[in-house]
Amino acid sequence: MNPERYLPRSLPPAMKGLTDLALDLRWNWNHCADALWKSVDPERWEATEDPWLILESISRKRLEALAADSTFLNELHRQLANRQAYLRQSSWFDKSHDEAELGTVAYFSMEFGLSDALPIYSGGLGVLAGDFLKTASDLGIPLVGIGLLYQQGYFHQALDTNGDQLAFFPYNNPTMLPVLPLQGSDGEWLRVSVELPGRTLWLRGWQAQVGRVSLYLLDSNDLLNAPGDRGITGELYGGGIEMRLQQEIVLGIGGWRLLEALNISPLVCHLNEGHAAFVILERARRFMEQTDRTFSISLLGTRAGNIFTTHTPVAAGFDRFPRKIMTQYFSDYAHHHLGISMDELLSLGHDHGSDDSNFFNMAYLALRGCGRVNGVSRLHGEVCRRIFLPLFSRWPKHEIPIGHITNGVHMPSWDSAAADALWTEHCGKGSWLSTLETIEQVWRRVDDDKLWSMRNQARQPLVKAVRRRLVRQHAACGVTKEGLMQCLQVLDPNVLTIGFARRFAGYKRPTLLLADPDRLTRLLIDAQRPVQLIIAGKAHPQDEEGKRMVREWNDYLRRPEVRERAVFLEDYDMGLAAELVQGVDLWLNTPRRPWEASGTSGMKVLVNGGLNLSELDGWWAEAYDPEVGWSLGDGQEHDHDSAWDAVEAEELYMLLEEEVVPAFYTRDEKGIPTAWMARMRQSLARLTPMFSCNRMAREYTEDYYIPAAAAYQRREAGNASLSATMKQWEVSLANHWHKIRFGQFSVQESLVRNLFQAEVHLGKLEPAAVQVELYAEALSHNSNPVRVTMDRGEMLAGSDNGYLYHATVPKGRPSRDYTPRVIPYHLEASVPLEANFIIWWE
Ligand SMILES: *Cc1c(COP(=O)(O)O)cnc(C)c1O
Repeated sequence: MNPERYLPRSLPPAMKGLTDLALDLRWNWNHCADALWKSVDPERWEATEDPWLILESISRKRLEALAADSTFLNELHRQLANRQAYLRQSSWFDKSHDEAELGTVAYFSMEFGLSDALPIYSGGLGVLAGDFLKTASDLGIPLVGIGLLYQQGYFHQALDTNGDQLAFFPYNNPTMLPVLPLQGSDGEWLRVSVELPGRTLWLRGWQAQVGRVSLYLLDSNDLLNAPGDRGITGELYGGGIEMRLQQEIVLGIGGWRLLEALNISPLVCHLNEGHAAFVILERARRFMEQTDRTFSISLLGTRAGNIFTTHTPVAAGFDRFPRKIMTQYFSDYAHHHLGISMDELLSLGHDHGSDDSNFFNMAYLALRGCGRVNGVSRLHGEVCRRIFLPLFSRWPKHEIPIGHITNGVHMPSWDSAAADALWTEHCGKGSWLSTLETIEQVWRRVDDDKLWSMRNQARQPLVKAVRRRLVRQHAACGVTKEGLMQCLQVLDPNVLTIGFARRFAGYKRPTLLLADPDRLTRLLIDAQRPVQLIIAGKAHPQDEEGKRMVREWNDYLRRPEVRERAVFLEDYDMGLAAELVQGVDLWLNTPRRPWEASGTSGMKVLVNGGLNLSELDGWWAEAYDPEVGWSLGDGQEHDHDSAWDAVEAEELYMLLEEEVVPAFYTRDEKGIPTAWMARMRQSLARLTPMFSCNRMAREYTEDYYIPAAAAYQRREAGNASLSATMKQWEVSLANHWHKIRFGQFSVQESLVRNLFQAEVHLGKLEPAAVQVELYAEALSHNSNPVRVTMDRGEMLAGSDNGYLYHATVPKGRPSRDYTPRVIPYHLEASVPLEANFIIWWE
């Protein structure tokens, strides 16, 4: 659709292109066009930093003045040329891969945090998805995003005069958002539908642009829908369980239908969390139509092209829907579209071993419908293998088929002007557009005084921004003029600045630092070595504990002696997050291990030279080393043990008092804190490449997407003939596995090697359908278990389908460490993910 048709008034011809600039979310966060937008409307720019809003509200008079302003027009043309150069330049993906290898990747997510101008996110999951789209654009990865356009974004937080949280839900007027309606081939608004019980739900399609990447959004606010249904996409994570189910149907089933309506046939679907798992069913349904195969063959065929990333550290965090509601919504779909019974559909979301069959678990559906599954940090990968262990009982934990790709952040979205300047000086423009190999070496050579001066410069705008926010915050509470003047005194740009901003949820322990308020006060107001603290965070409106913790901070902050040293800023969002991570010296993170699956906010300080002090959880468990920052906790899990919380609070105070503060204030003759600079250098050099979304996106592309696309194509080729033979294999395993039986198992030891022999009776199974192995546990946490394939030897005398399997193993570990086992085998199958059978010699 021509975007200008969508504006209240047409732009003068001289300003052609300004609309594209305003609508490209990559362009409007990238700051290079800030001055341009500010010159259009300084006041609105200060208040919103939202180019589209400025364009929507500009007067005709102002437009005409700008059209005649050659400075403005020159800047506009410069920005348009920049954007064209970015869109056209050859990318990492073009240089290292072939477009045909991958086709298109469809990335499904319930939320996308791209900009506060498009408020369709609540927190870390959404910001990750947003950073990922920006990175995919930078790297040229052929990917589209699929999500929902909510009439209300996540709530805005304000504080009342008591310091209690208030929640406001502003209405997202779609015409005020940087999105355009999608147009169908007939010029009409592109719409798709999904079936709900007894009715059809119409969904409207929207598009947001993120550089080279398109994000497609759906909403149900269509006049053809019943009033209640128009509100299905009303609120992110709003409503009850039934509305959540409806939203997930819209995302998964509606999302796939929208792609089809757009003529996009992705080879790979990436599910960012289990919310989108219904796409598995719809994708298989379309595959059935195209190949005329059964649902189970189609599920097997499409599975290879689906990827599931789980972000949840506890089983209780998965979305589950009661069987009754599922049946209401899906029985027609199961019978008429999938050709299966409702019980068969439900079994895809059950844990067969437990009595929990009253619920349909979206993570289980995702696990059964995806060919690759991963957690979001090394530690989280381990935690996931533990969570899903019950689904793979009898398999060693090590072999639970869940890997990990550690999250990262889109560095250019989070760097300060001062950091950007220093990065550009030393690494050149575009340092985040390729493979980051040189970054480490570069930072090792940068002078201490340059690093220190970047830090000092970055603190100034933060202090200004905090004061400005505080004035606005207090003015809304009716604070007197004198009170507002006091706001202009808070913080000092030369003082060690600590940031703590995150969701106020119990497991994040946002009040750990308040364990001993007087001790905290002493730390803050020390005359020689003061500390200042900026706190922010929302509690979920229904989370009483979280809201109490917001209040607890605000009660503490009323103490007159800390007023100038510590503040609570309301309404934590991406804009505030950016200000904080750019300016603070230290980022604090205190979750209860292992509840922080990854965490990303601490990664955002890295590019700005900020340091981390964090619990050894999520990403920090793999990033931490004494040379790069500070760690809290003992790397063990202690549940909700309040005695242990007290131990960690004590450790936190000690670290701050005895390590952090002295490192910051011990200066050399030039006034430089050399110990602090040493850590800052290590953190910049080693951690920025590792925890950038650039590294993460390349890993997803090379380790997951490309192999998944290839595997899917093999299963789809020739009318899915491979899928059909794999299905036969699977069925014969299911029918005959229980007949497999071990006979004698023996070892012949010699001086240098041991010969193991095992008799295995395969019953009705083809020998090629299985593999017989010797298995030995890993010797230590850092090593891998040993797996040795046994060769099939002669048929056992008098047996029907029994063989003597043998393997020779060099001497070393005692022979009793090895146990033989039988597992399924197929060259194209992922075992045990797709064939969950195992039998051990006992
Ligand atoms: C980065 C970010 C998050 C994620 O923070 P973690 O606490 O590390 O999970 C949440 N909210 C906003 C607004 C962010 O910018």
